[in-house]
Amino acid sequence: MSSSQDIVIIGGGHAAAQLCAGLAEAGQGARVHLVCEEASIPYHRPPLSKTFLRSPEEAPQLHRAEAWYAEAGITLHLGDPASAIDRAARTVTLRSGAVLGWERLVLATGTRARRLPALVGLSNVALLRAADEAAQLRSMLSAAQQVTVLGGGFIGLEVAATALGLGKHVTVLESAPRLLSRAVSPALSEHVLATHRAAGMDIRVGAKTGAWRTEGQRLAAIEVDGQALPVDLLMVGIGAVPETALAEAAGLECADGIVVDAYMQTSDEAVLAVGDCTRFPDRRAGQALRLESVQNANDQARTAVATLTGAARPHDAVPWFWSDQGSLRLQMAGLVPAEGTPGANTVRRPGPNAAGFSLLHYVNGMLRCVESVNAPVDHMMSRKLLEAGRSPDPAVAADPAVPLKTHLA
Ligand code: NAP
Repeated sequence: MSSSQDIVIIGGGHAAAQLCAGLAEAGQGARVHLVCEEASIPYHRPPLSKTFLRSPEEAPQLHRAEAWYAEAGITLHLGDPASAIDRAARTVTLRSGAVLGWERLVLATGTRARRLPALVGLSNVALLRAADEAAQLRSMLSAAQQVTVLGGGFIGLEVAATALGLGKHVTVLESAPRLLSRAVSPALSEHVLATHRAAGMDIRVGAKTGAWRTEGQRLAAIEVDGQALPVDLLMVGIGAVPETALAEAAGLECADGIVVDAYMQTSDEAVLAVGDCTRFPDRRAGQALRLESVQNANDQARTAVATLTGAARPHDAVPWFWSDQGSLRLQMAGLVPAEGTPGANTVRRPGPNAAGFSLLHYVNGMLRCVESVNAPVDHMMSRKLLEAGRSPDPAVAADPAVPLKTHLA
């Protein structure tokens, strides 16, 4: 990287924050511009569905203070999203009309929450992606007694568990036959369902929602499985859509995500992309993936920094996820094998106490994924096992008296 290189980063999430940190650490003197749609500098998203909702005074937790960006030579363009990319001229135009030149451009545009058009603008319907939406949801929660959550994915269940902890009556409506079906095994879905129900949550899986009834600007009721369900507050958590519009308009290859290679380069090698918005080749899975997680944002940003600083190396990271939902700390390492995968088997390893356990998923004797519930040490060791390509004998791995780290020696 030459000291005069101009790098423009579009996006203000975890991937963009990690890119800024990595470029500053590399210390090669690039002039970096960070272009954010939101008016805030990058902040941590995971607390927004948990502690932020519980604590009326809590502000978003920043990755770094504003002064750090100035010291690192990073120019911030806040509340001024990019509106167009000109690859031939190597410029980005911002909504304000400002034009930034670049030698390397990085798209860290993330995802946006999927919406139901019929519900947009209703005063008792909330989404949760950005801090301003979390602040709105927090004030709506303080006034509501009953909370209905549409979608039994990560965001829906985290908000549902927080609302239950605040003493609300909570109903979760999931259209799929099981909870968290995109990310966890059927056995873990069952455990999550049973735990939340035992705590008092009304969860309906395979729920068929029909007509919506409004009264003025409020949602009054939803039809669920043919019955009208009155609504006090509805939180919609029905998935995320990758933000690819800028990339598509710039003629970059996209396929449910911005297509990148193992160095995070798009179909134009001067333009990189990182985080939730990318579709990338995953060596371990043997196929292109799009992953929505903090780990993926951070690890892809590290790969991109290596590419940008002349130390290019192919991306190779074990995916991991976590989700805190009331009494459940879920931690997943690796990707759970698809249902019906030939040669797949699962062993259960008891955890450090009665509320904890891990499910170790093997395919043809190779460890592929470990799902841990309230077993953080086993989760950490599982990540190391997967990184090292170790597959402990299933019978030994199921024995809680033998620490998983034994298999790393
Ligand atoms: P998600 O994990 O994809 O879950 C959405 C769920 O809603 C899916 O089970 C989906 O079922 C269901 N659904 C879709 N349409 C529905 C409808 N009309 N009625 C009822 N259910 C419906 O997405 P999310 O929970 O909304 O999360 C959004 C983003 O935030 C994702 O990127 C997620 O990874 C991220 N996030 C991550 C964490 C974490 O890692 N701990 C926490 C919070 C948020 P189908 O699959 O059948 O469509």
